[in-house]
Parts: sequence; C-alpha cells; structure tokens
Amino acid sequence: MRFASTRAAGNGVGFSAALREGLAPDGGLYVPTRWPAMPAALQSPDLDLPSRGASLLLPFLAADPLEGELPAITREAFNFEAPLVTLDAAAKLSLLELFHGPTAAFKDFGARFLAASLARVPRTSGRTLNMLVATSGDTGGAVAAAFHERPGMQVTVLFPKGLVSPTQERQLTCWGDNVRSLAVRGTFDDCQRLVKEAFVDPELKSRARMSSANSINPGRLLPQMAYFAAASLEVWRRYGEPASFVVPSGNLGNALACLWARAAGLPIGEVVLAHNANRTVPDYLASGVWRARPSIATLASAMDVGDPSNAERLRALYPDFNELRVAVSACSVSDEEIRARIRADYASRGQIWCPHTATAAEAYERLPAARRAAQRWVLVSTAHPAKFPEIVEPLIGRAVSVPQSLAGLFARASSYVEIEPDLGALRAAL
Ligand SMILES: *Cc1c(COP(=O)(O)O)cnc(C)c1O
Repeated sequence: MRFASTRAAGNGVGFSAALREGLAPDGGLYVPTRWPAMPAALQSPDLDLPSRGASLLLPFLAADPLEGELPAITREAFNFEAPLVTLDAAAKLSLLELFHGPTAAFKDFGARFLAASLARVPRTSGRTLNMLVATSGDTGGAVAAAFHERPGMQVTVLFPKGLVSPTQERQLTCWGDNVRSLAVRGTFDDCQRLVKEAFVDPELKSRARMSSANSINPGRLLPQMAYFAAASLEVWRRYGEPASFVVPSGNLGNALACLWARAAGLPIGEVVLAHNANRTVPDYLASGVWRARPSIATLASAMDVGDPSNAERLRALYPDFNELRVAVSACSVSDEEIRARIRADYASRGQIWCPHTATAAEAYERLPAARRAAQRWVLVSTAHPAKFPEIVEPLIGRAVSVPQSLAGLFARASSYVEIEPDLGALRAAL
C-alpha cells in the first residue's frame, strides 16, 4: 500500500516512510492511495481493540518493513479501553469514551501508535529524530507521554502561551528528559505555521532529522480508525444498524479517521462535525468558499483551529463539493452553549462532559428530531472532564474526580522556554 501527497499524483511512499516524514516533500498531506477490502477476520465478535486494530490496519502496511510488527505495535499502543457506553437506550444514543489513556484524551491512541511504530522503524543513521508538535492543548501532552524517555528520539512541543488551560499547561511542561516545551507568544495557528516552516528550513534540516507528531502525520490518523471500526462493528452486531457519529472537531484529524473508516467499508452512517466558535468548516460546508481565519480562544481550546490542516485530506477524499456536503455535515457551538449543555446534561443525565464533548452533545440536540430518530447515534467523548476542572466544576457545582493517570502527571514539576512566534526564535531554541 502506498501513501500519496494530497498535492501530487504519483506513486507515493510506504507506511514507514510516510510516518517518518510526517509531511510530503511538496507540503501536501499523505493519504492512502486506495481503500482495501476489509479482512473478514475484522468482524469476529471476540477481538480486543489491539487485535481488531491490527487486522484493520494490516492492508495499509502491506509490504512495508513494519508489517510484521503491527500486532506488537497495536498491543503496545492500545493498552487501554475505548468503551461504547449506552447513554439513552430509548433514544438509541451512546457514547464512545476515548479518554482512558495516560493523558485522558483521544490523542493518546494516535500518539502512542506513532511512537510504538517509529521505535520499530529500522534506523538508517545514528541521528536523533526530533518530533515537532504544535498543540492547542491535548496533542502535546499525549505526544510527550508517548515519546518520553525513548532512546534516539526527541520531542519539541510548541503551545500558545496563556491559551491552554492551567491543567493542560502542566501536562505540556512536566516532562523534561528528551521533551522540550516551548511557550509561543502567539496562537495555535502560529505554532502550526512554525512547525511547517521548520520542516522546509534548510538550516534546521541540516541539523537534525525532523518529523511531525501532529495529525498531519498519517501515523496519527490511521490508528484512530481502529476505535471507529470497533464501535461501528459493535453497533452493527448488537442492532444490525450502522452507527452515526458526532465528532468534536478542530484540526479534523479525528473526523478524517471516522470518514476513512467509512470509506474502508465499515458500517458508519452519518458523520456530524461539532466545532466550537471557530466556524471555518461549518461556513465552508454552507457556502462552498474556504475562508481560513485566525483562531478564536474558546472553552473547548483543543479545537481552537481557524485553518484546519486536515481540510486538505477532506477535499482529497471528496473532491466534488456537492458530494462532500452530502458526506458530512458540521455545526458551530458557542461558549455560552457549551456551558449550558454541561449544566443541562449534568442535571438531566448526571453526565459530566468536558467542554469538547459538550459540543458533540449540543450538536446532537440540535439535529432535527426525525434525523435523530432515524439513526443510531454515537457521541464521541474526546477528553475526561478532569482535564478542565476550572471550566467544568463551577458549572456543575461539584469536584470532578481525577483519574489515576492524570493525578501522577499533576504531581510533576514543570518547566518551559518562552519564544516569539518566528522561525528565528525557534531556530535559537532548538
Ligand atoms: C484535539 C482534540 C479535539 C479535536 O480533534 P481534531 O482531530 O483536531 O479535530 C477535540 N477534543 C479534544 C479533547 C482534543 O484534544
């Protein structure tokens, strides 16, 4: 299987090379060149997530040096659950909980898969691999956790100073060892731009091998297909109906994994993208005009993206705009609506949402009743509410209990270096 750039035709590269490079040389994003038929074994009811993930991803690694390692990679990476929980049986509504990993957000799946894969790619030189990662909140922590203390690899996390939650900041800056944290005086878009500039900077390229751990790296997106596959197959087995997903979205990495899973033939119905006040994607689907804009700071900060990178993959998947707007729909949820939804669903269901998951819960409530009733809906829960106590606790009037993994991170000391949002400053810091 080859992965080709969204910007060029041609043969593309294999899985390992796509992972190592992160971004295609022409600045495009790697996408699979075809959707292989899914192996029958995938359907077997008693597979755990690592086995189902390996069987789903195997065709994408065919003839790649990592093919034989895949079961070991998914076993190491997916060492926590992604449970599908019934929320409201009468309403045919359930919740896919993706926050049971070490940093309590769904990004643990992709980051851990990427780290486990890169650790097994045969090394062609003794040079250290520097993973650059721009983060709007959760990615940096997940990537740092996944790569921390791995030999031959370094991580540089760029986050927008003052624009991530205090709890998130601790998770971005508590590592030390091979992890470096840079607080950029700018927005997430500045961080993302700096990473892209660093990749094509001759001086930095001559100093170190660099790759990206952002969701521009296909090694982050592919493994995320595994939980959409597992959840949709579970719904199919239980009810004989496809699953429709509401996905809290920012850079569109998780959404693309869901759409890729559907393209690969899994029983997935509608896909609804729940955005915060950063409305670039909903406006695009409404108007057909792509207008990137500066990101706005919101309560769901890990989704504060004004120019989502993975939109390029969305357009590559559905080059025809009319097809695209049938394939996926999107809406925008304001901070006020996030607050109201957290309050309301705690009061009515006893359910505590993180601000990101709350956008999905709100998007679902907004669907026309007929559309809600016609499908089996799955809300994707992207983070544990204990990551956002400053926001959630005042709304529900009680403390949120902290999972063990997070409590361990909170106990560590933190350190970071502050930089201006320009390439010169990044060069100096590296
Ligand atoms: C990153 C993140 C999102 C957005 O996911 P994308 O793949 O960037 O669209 C949503 N919720 C949480 C908690 C996140 O960390």
